Parts: sequence; C-alpha cells; structure tokens
Amino acid sequence: MTSELDILDDHFHDHCGVFGVFGHPEASKVAYLGIYALQHRGQESAGIITSDGSELHAHKAMGQVAEIFQPAVLASLPGSSAIGHTRYSTAGDKALMNAQPFVIDCNKGKIAVAHNGNLTNAGDWRRKLEHKGSIFQTNSDTEVIVHLLAKSQARNLSGALGDAFNQVEGAYSLVILTADELFAARDPRGFRPLVLGKLPGVNGSDAWVVASETCAFDLLNARYVREIEPGEMVRISRSGVESIHFAPPKPRQQCIFEHVYFSRPDSVIFGRSVNDSREMLGRLLAREHPVAADIIVPVPDSGVPAAVGFAMEAGIPFRMGLIRNHYIGRTFIEPSQAIRDFGVKLKLNPVRELMAGKRVVLVDDSIVRGTTSRKIVRMVREAGAREVHVRISCPPTISPCYYGVDTPTREELIASSHSPEEICKFLGADSLGYVSMSALKQAVADTAGDFCSSCYTGVYPTDLVQLEVRETSSNGKEGAPAPEKAPVTVIRES
Ligand code: 5GP
Ligand code: MG
Repeated sequence: MTSELDILDDHFHDHCGVFGVFGHPEASKVAYLGIYALQHRGQESAGIITSDGSELHAHKAMGQVAEIFQPAVLASLPGSSAIGHTRYSTAGDKALMNAQPFVIDCNKGKIAVAHNGNLTNAGDWRRKLEHKGSIFQTNSDTEVIVHLLAKSQARNLSGALGDAFNQVEGAYSLVILTADELFAARDPRGFRPLVLGKLPGVNGSDAWVVASETCAFDLLNARYVREIEPGEMVRISRSGVESIHFAPPKPRQQCIFEHVYFSRPDSVIFGRSVNDSREMLGRLLAREHPVAADIIVPVPDSGVPAAVGFAMEAGIPFRMGLIRNHYIGRTFIEPSQAIRDFGVKLKLNPVRELMAGKRVVLVDDSIVRGTTSRKIVRMVREAGAREVHVRISCPPTISPCYYGVDTPTREELIASSHSPEEICKFLGADSLGYVSMSALKQAVADTAGDFCSSCYTGVYPTDLVQLEVRETSSNGKEGAPAPEKAPVTVIRES
C-alpha cells in the first residue's frame, strides 16, 4: 500500500524524520505535531512511542501522520515523554514490521529506537550476529544497533549505546526512549541533522524536544537550542540534560543534499537557513548559466527557492507557470506503468496563459533519472513555450547515497553515464545547465569542507561493507536496493 502517489518520489527510499520530547504532560500530542512537521521526510509509515514512567506504549501504521494519529489513538498513548518517526521505506520493504520506532525488551530494559540514516556496515554485522545466534525481526539496519546494545557488558544504557555506536559505521541520527530517559545521538561524522530545543511548559517547567529539523520546533513554538554534535549522545532525564561524547569527532560529513532538496526551506540545517542556501544556489546558477529568456518558472515545490534566486539575479520575472496538485492522496495504489506514463499530469499542470510564446527557464533542484524532467519539458512545450531552458541547482547526480537518501542504483542515475549535452537532448530542452560543485559549496557556506557530497563525486567517506553483503546475501528478504556493481571509490580515514 502506498500512502501517496508521488510521481517524483516513487523511486526514492528510506527518507526519515525523527522527533523526541521529554517532560511534557501531553507528550503524544507534541510528538504528533513534531512528526507532522517532518512529514516531508517520509510519507509511508509513521509511529509514536510514549513512556508513562514505567511502561512504553506504541502505535505504528502505514500511511501519513494525520491519518494515522486520530484523537483516540493519541489518547491511548499516555505519558510525559515520547519519540516519533516518519519513514519512506524501500519498495520491497514496506511491511509494517519495518516501521519505526522499534520497541525492544532486552537485558537493558524496554527501549524504543527511531533512526534516520543508513549504516554502511549493517549487513556485515547482521551476518556475524546471526551466526552467533541473534534473531533479527526486521530487515532494518537499525536493528543491528539494538543487538549490539544488548550484547554490551556496560553497566548502564549510555555505556551500552556508546559500545554499539562505536561498532557501526555510517549515518545515524537517533532518538531513543526508555521508561525514564530520552537519548538523542548523532554519528561522529554528522551526516544527518539532529537538533535540540526547549518547549516552555505551562507550569514553568520546560520540556525538551529533539528533531530532525527546526521546522518541527517552529510549529510547537519551541526554542532552538543547538545541534546535537557529531559523536555526541545527549541523555535527558528528570535530573536534566547530560552530554556524552561517545566517540572523538571525525571530519564532518554533513549531507549537502539536505540543503539542495531534502529539508524544508524554513528549517535551519547544520546551522544555516535552507532557504538562504537555495536562493543562493539560484543566484549562482544564473551567473554560471545565464540565458536570454522571458520568464523564470520553478518546478514546484522543490525548485521554488532556487528559481526565486535565479530570477532576482537575472532580473527576469519569476512566474508560477506550473501548478502542483498537493492532494493526490491515495487515488492510485501501486499504479501500473501505463498509469505512470501520464502520471506527471496528476501532479503538475502548466498555466498556458503564462507560457505561450515565451522563452522559459525551468528551474529544478535536481535530476535523478531524468524521466520526470523530460515529461515536464514536453508539457511546457505543449503549453506553447517557444524555448525551454532547464537549470538545475545542484551538480550532476552521478552516484548513489548510502547514508540515508536512497537514490536509485548508479545505472539508473542518468548523469552517471550521460554528459549534460546528452541529458539536454534526452530532456528535449534547448539548453541545460547544472550549478558547479564550487558554487554549491559557496551556497551552503562550506568553507571548512564539512559536507558529504558523494552523490556528486562518487567519493565516499566511509567503507561500504554492506555492499558486498547485499550481493552475497541469499535470504532474499533483505529488501535492499539492487547490488551495486560499479566500482566505488572509498576514502579510508586513519
Ligand atoms: P527525474 O527527472 O530525475 O525523474 O526527477 C527529478 C525530480 O525528482 C526533481 O523535481 C527533484 O525535485 C526530484 N527529486 C530529486 N531527489 C529526490 C528525492 O530524493 N526524493 C524525491 N521524492 N524527489 C526527488
Ligand atoms: Mg522536485
């Protein structure tokens, strides 16, 4: 079952949003609002776990946050602390069993875990642990952390978590709930965002909140306090907030794609406004690939801020020449290819009066397979545009992400095997321009080399052990993306 027919989204997987709250009388409602604001990070399943001080209460389901969490459901989730998760899972992997947060009962007590990111050595660990008798209940890499945690000899949970974290590789921004604690942890490279905030309480006692993005705080009127640092685990309990550095920080590898596409423009990610980054991308794109044109048209919604920046820089009018239908909902479940072929019209429609006879610059954030962009170019031509110039506010996407943005395989990424000229021809556009890598770094204000840009470079900051395992895995239920065959460049950190 798909929760939404999203033509632009149906080949991307494993996006997630996480949220946590501690010390609020209506924790389930706060968590509900938190993951509601993070819905864009994953639309396929959602879950909330609360703690009433001794027991954990859970509700998870396929679908979107507002549908799942009806008042009666929220009322069945008592307690003053909670974590929530919203997820977009892999195609073969949509089962509710993989919906998060997970709740486990182990020698360390009852623990709930919600994870954003992907571990790059999970397959390796899974094989080893299963060999030693661990029984996995899900296909998720998150479960590896749980088993490592249970195996730890550490006396308390913080120590056991630290032990587990120090054995896994890759991307994890986690929220973890026990009967009386909330943990928030981020991997030592800080791939995915995670922020800490404070929610003023009615009786003067503040609640703590943790979220993937600050837009969740804005909805709640919570105050942004700071980022959870890479390599840091924050433990929140009745005795306050404790910061534990479980690993020395490694060179930062903040996901640059969060600024390009993934996060909401009203969020502050890695200490920088996403909207600022996107408008700057548009400005730099206009400087790098200027074109004589009549109107600048964004591909909504993701292309809008960059198109605004492009229009301001170029001094060409910004016009909403494409209208997006936000209410596609569940009209079609698992559409056949025949339906997909006209699919883009379900989501985007041209405003003919704006485009007819015009030289149009179409601004979008990225091209992945190119199939949607091709349909949009055709649609704009059919609406009467005289010329269609495509401008993309990131460099060519040449390599898959293994850190929580599940792009398709390398073979399916059009820019992995085609030059911009060839892609331009495929799209049927009059010209095509991608923003350069140096402009992208400038736009996110990356002076220190703090970002991971492996989707644009093919250079990965961790070993990718999982890849070998996926290829050799024979249980057939991994739900993993197709095995990666192209050679992968790996930088080993000493
Ligand atoms: P394509 O032309 O490659 O088929 O599709 C390009 C569109 O996909 C762009 O509008 C871009 O915003 C969107 N896109 C790029 N990356 C992602 C992603 O990770 N998830 C989703 N849902 N859409 C994406
Ligand atoms: Mg888009």
